[in-house]
Amino acid sequence: MDNLITRLSALLDPSSLLLGDDISEKYHADWSGVDPCQPAALLKPKNTQQLSEIMALCHEYAQPVVVQGGLTGLSGGATPQAGEFAISLERMQGIEEIDTTAMTITAQAGTPLQVLQDTAAEHDLFMPLDLGARGSCNIGGNVATNAGGTEVLRYGMTRSLVLGLEAVMADGTVISAMNKMVKNNSGYDLKHLFIGSEGTLGIVTRVVVQLQPKLRSCHTALCTLEDYDSVTQLLGELKRSLGAGLTGFELMWDNYLDKVLEVVPDLQNPFAESHPFYLLLEYKDSDEVAGAERFESALFSHLEAGLITDAVIAQSHKDAERFWQIRDGIGELLQVLGPVSNQDVSLSLTQLGKFTEDLESRLKAKYADMDVLMFGHIGDNNLHVVAYTGRAEDKPLINTDIMLMIGEYAGAITAEHGVGVNKRDFLDQSRSPEEIALMRTLKHAMDPKGVLNPGRVI
Ligand SMILES: Cc1cc2nc3c(=O)[nH]c(=O)nc-3n(C[C@H](O)[C@H](O)[C@H](O)COP(=O)(O)OP(=O)(O)OC[C@H]3O[C@@H](n4cnc5c(N)ncnc54)[C@H](O)[C@@H]3O)c2cc1C
Repeated sequence: MDNLITRLSALLDPSSLLLGDDISEKYHADWSGVDPCQPAALLKPKNTQQLSEIMALCHEYAQPVVVQGGLTGLSGGATPQAGEFAISLERMQGIEEIDTTAMTITAQAGTPLQVLQDTAAEHDLFMPLDLGARGSCNIGGNVATNAGGTEVLRYGMTRSLVLGLEAVMADGTVISAMNKMVKNNSGYDLKHLFIGSEGTLGIVTRVVVQLQPKLRSCHTALCTLEDYDSVTQLLGELKRSLGAGLTGFELMWDNYLDKVLEVVPDLQNPFAESHPFYLLLEYKDSDEVAGAERFESALFSHLEAGLITDAVIAQSHKDAERFWQIRDGIGELLQVLGPVSNQDVSLSLTQLGKFTEDLESRLKAKYADMDVLMFGHIGDNNLHVVAYTGRAEDKPLINTDIMLMIGEYAGAITAEHGVGVNKRDFLDQSRSPEEIALMRTLKHAMDPKGVLNPGRVI
């Protein structure tokens, strides 16, 4: 390793190569809660060329590396493991181009997501990706994890937004696929190998994203429903009546809403009575007045028909923020609940309701003091489950129970956050042996020495 460090020092200035206690604790772990570990070295390349030379050397010495973006990942993929060099993309930041005709933005991978959002907004455009970690996560990390977030119902996950990218392979080869066209069937679309591969097949260095026109009017409401069948029926009805303008369909079970209101100060239940389900709806339109009419008339017709039992429409931006604070209260909850099994899973809409009932009854029968909280981007099949007993030793057992149930229901063990190290051992609950074998074949072809993010995903 000393010889490799000597050769890397010849390549990088002292501030780009740090060792031992010079490496700040920030680089010891991502936000997943996986045990921190000091990397054997921290490398901060300034550009693609430098990163390519670093990887060529690490490949020559078979030196394992872990790729670090904004470190907000929740599956442990960016947390170093013993002996790994950490490669941080934080110096590879900046918007390279905004093309207002093609409505595209080109950015370096280490650019925070919020910078892309703000730059798009300055040009009266919309960056169709948003998530709670927007100020800290990087567009490269979003691409590597195929992030979802709150705009998926209309615009899809990151995979649907990326037109082109550049990546450095395990041996330092640079793949430039900076496509700016919507249609391009000239051979394999290689960008998809890197999107969602969690840094195991290559390091994303630059990205071209398709922007969208900014919609001027946004309407938000909080509704109550009495059963899961009404939820799925309403989703179908609203998709038909509001079309692509339906951008938010966030379901909260009563167990989640009650706990958030109990724990987070200053939040109030807008409804006088309790209901089994609470639904946060968001509708966007290009016309303020017509948009409001369309949204309200859709809500009233479903209230009259009894599909929705009560509804409050936000009368101001502040009201809408308050509704979202209830949905986003999970951040505060996680800080006070102690050891929890915190899962983001996917299920088919037809199975999701039955799964949640089955899960709650099985967990409560098996563990004393069990609490289960549920919410999710149900329009995207995405269910978040927080299950806990207050005892740390139960957490891994509960994780396993939920993962095995996902296998039983043919769901996805992770909807958004990725496999990383946390869910690697459960991949076979969602993927067939043939699929996993093909993943290994790809990994071996693209990283024969296994130097890139080893032990993540597969
Ligand atoms: C408060 C909060 C809210 C969140 N909300 C959502 C949400 O709504 N939807 C959702 O999908 N996710 C969500 N996440 C998780 C989400 O996956 C990450 O926040 C984000 O996409 C990761 O970006 P990052 O730059 O922080 O990556 P990191 O945490 O640094 O890395 C994540 C993984 O990608 C790899 N990686 C990072 N950069 C690169 C690169 N340039 N090339 C190759 N590999 C790379 C890392 O090795 C690691 O495996 C949330 C996280 C938090 C903390």
